[in-house]
Amino acid sequence: MSVRVRFAPSPTGPLHIGGVRTALYNYLFARKNGGKMLLRIEDTDQNRYVPGAEEYILESLQWLGIEIDEGQGVGGPHAPYRQSERKAMYRQYAEQLITAGKAYYAFDTADEIEAMRQRLEEAGADAAQYNAITRVQMTNSLTLSAEEVQQRIGKGDPYVIRIKIDPKQEIRFKDIIREWVVVHASTLDDKVLLKSDGMPTYHLANIVDDHLMGITHVIRGEEWLPSAPLHVLMYQYFGWEAPQFAHLPLLLKPEGNGKLSKRDADLGGFPIFPLLWQDPNTGTTARGFREDGYLKEALVNFLAFLGWNPGTEQELFTMDELIEAFSLERIHKAGARFDIAKAKWFNQQYLKAKSDEELVDSLQSMVGGSGAEQTHNGKPINLQTVNLKQDNLLKICRLMKDRVTFPQEILTEATFLFDAPDTYEEAVVTSKWNADAVKAIGAYIEDLKTYEGDFLADAVKAVWAATTEREGIKMGKVMQALRLAVTGVGHGPDLMLTMEILGKEEVIKRLEKALDVLTS
Ligand code: GLU
Repeated sequence: MSVRVRFAPSPTGPLHIGGVRTALYNYLFARKNGGKMLLRIEDTDQNRYVPGAEEYILESLQWLGIEIDEGQGVGGPHAPYRQSERKAMYRQYAEQLITAGKAYYAFDTADEIEAMRQRLEEAGADAAQYNAITRVQMTNSLTLSAEEVQQRIGKGDPYVIRIKIDPKQEIRFKDIIREWVVVHASTLDDKVLLKSDGMPTYHLANIVDDHLMGITHVIRGEEWLPSAPLHVLMYQYFGWEAPQFAHLPLLLKPEGNGKLSKRDADLGGFPIFPLLWQDPNTGTTARGFREDGYLKEALVNFLAFLGWNPGTEQELFTMDELIEAFSLERIHKAGARFDIAKAKWFNQQYLKAKSDEELVDSLQSMVGGSGAEQTHNGKPINLQTVNLKQDNLLKICRLMKDRVTFPQEILTEATFLFDAPDTYEEAVVTSKWNADAVKAIGAYIEDLKTYEGDFLADAVKAVWAATTEREGIKMGKVMQALRLAVTGVGHGPDLMLTMEILGKEEVIKRLEKALDVLTS
């Protein structure tokens, strides 16, 4: 049997990061087993349809490298399946169940159903449901005569089709992750399968499609576990073989208790959507991992570990390595804490591993526009100070790569390059700015002025070594003062490379300014 899995999102808004994880696990499982991955847009609920949501889903998957093997939607062989394009065909399946005595027409109005609910509540019933007990008092094809049913349908009375749950049985199935799930059918209600507008509900469309598309494994979020017994029963009623189920653990709040929500993300200042989303109805925006500077490799790696582990110490996995290592059996039942610090850690690792050349592309696009668009802590970054030609950008990447979490920080954390210091870190001034420092820096300025060679890190270091030696000052003792003079602070990345990037003129200007400001 060849594996066929599907990712079946509803286009009701931006794809949540939990949905992305579901898609990823389906993809890993399909690839690992040489199977096929389908994308099916479950858009039968027109009221909840949000324009742009489908495009958002496609773009998110594409960005992350989650490839779809099959779809037959309008727009080409790789367009996803869309339930809205298949809607005409679901009715016959609901009617097939009616013929088999497993479903029925129900004509009750909203008011009648409400009245039934109230009656039950007043009588102290546990759950006010349309089920085996209550259906006998309602207006449906089980209580009306066959003629009356035909007559009502004939004159266009609105009706739904409901599943007829036989309450005297236990429903059991073995979930790959949760083991045996056992539910008594008496706890289920007679769910609507076909709505009065002729559209299928989620349950009907989902089961029919999974069957027709030959889905072998349904891998989806834990929130669908309560629906699974109904689905298993529906497969029985149709006389179809059910796929295997694997319900993925919930994503939990960063502190670990309760389900992760948008609010947690807002409070914690992190995204829970893959891409930036602008809501077409409200105009509000929600941040995205991509725009926040997460690398796709890092996000994939992070998501893979939210609910699964390889059982070894290895943490960094490429997509191919994940495919190789993945198995549904190693997914755990317990909820997975959404630890954004871990996502940042992954990002750092992947950023560090990138070559300067790869990083320079993203830096280029950041400095490409007018410099004034770039701000840091609300202040525009002055991109005029340093030469932003390709070779210098490469050096900036090399300087900053190990010290940042996100690509944009290569710019925003390097403001010491773009702005000559206005102030100097006080503790460093007190401890390191002394007569030796003044003397060494004064002499260094003169030596740099007469230095004619290329202004490269090794060379400026050699000049500094020669200056301090000639002046009889230990280089180590005045190093931090030099850093202070150039950057205004006592710590930072490679100082010699910093000076190389700044260039001779700017370095001399900064040294002179420091002498001026700090010795007066
Ligand atoms: N359309 C459902 C969703 O939005 C699909 C659930 C399933 O995978 O069965 O998640």
